[in-house]
Amino acid sequence: MQLANHTIIITGASSGIGEAAARLFAEEGANLILGARRQAQLESLAEEIGSNGTSVSILAGDVREESYAKALVDLALEHFGHLNGAFNNAGITGVLGAIPDMQGDMWDQVIATNLTSGFYAAKYQIPAMQSRGGGSLVFTSSFVGHTVGLPGMGAYAAAKAGLIGLTQVLAAEHGADNIRCNALLPGGTRTPMAGDDADFLKSVEELHALKRMAEPAEIAQAALFLLSDRSSFVTGSAMLADGGNSISKS
Ligand code: NAD
Repeated sequence: MQLANHTIIITGASSGIGEAAARLFAEEGANLILGARRQAQLESLAEEIGSNGTSVSILAGDVREESYAKALVDLALEHFGHLNGAFNNAGITGVLGAIPDMQGDMWDQVIATNLTSGFYAAKYQIPAMQSRGGGSLVFTSSFVGHTVGLPGMGAYAAAKAGLIGLTQVLAAEHGADNIRCNALLPGGTRTPMAGDDADFLKSVEELHALKRMAEPAEIAQAALFLLSDRSSFVTGSAMLADGGNSISKS
């Protein structure tokens, strides 16, 4: 069990990659704090995971709010007395559009959800980890904004690239506290975010050297590695789990 007695916060746990991570981390022995917007989805996931013996608490809220980041950490400390790690994973693409057509409000929403949320999360998670002698933070970034520029995704790319910069600085600032910080860069993954348009999904598959998209559970495995002690010398990295998307040209 790679996360035995580890208390881990997961945001974006109501679907896709976060939901798969919740199931996997539970199997690996973690105590979980699950966050996302939708209370009903969190409740049914917590019921399922809890019935298998995992200690799990949920808190629905909005990662764009600083108070929500604090509340998730407070819940972890209240229920389990310590915080070992966080998978800061909630995100949105927003409405896609070329930059001249993009409304400022959409830009702000995408940056707030994907990037500013990471700042708020770290602001409260780091002190909680300092007080117990270390921990691991993982931020879900993307191949978009790192090795690939997809038209229409300017705000998303800027936010996900910004998360890598934030990760690097956090890793440098808190390495001496035994706190590791890494960005995880999934390739195209079969989640509600990717939608269900067959032609679109086929075109996304073709972007990858493996000629398929990831299953959410495959990305959860990469997050597990970064949160567990198996990655004890990995910090400040932008770790691709992208099926060769970044090196594939056909
Ligand atoms: P998803 O839509 O299935 O899940 C997104 C989760 O984020 C949901 O639980 C949702 O409730 C939560 N969320 C969104 N906005 C929120 C807010 N304001 N407050 C609280 N929670 C909020 O999508 P997914 O594919 O599982 O996405 C997870 C992460 O992976 C995202 O950061 C996404 O950008 C990233 N990612 C996805 C892909 C992909 O192809 N699916 C590729 C690369 C990176």
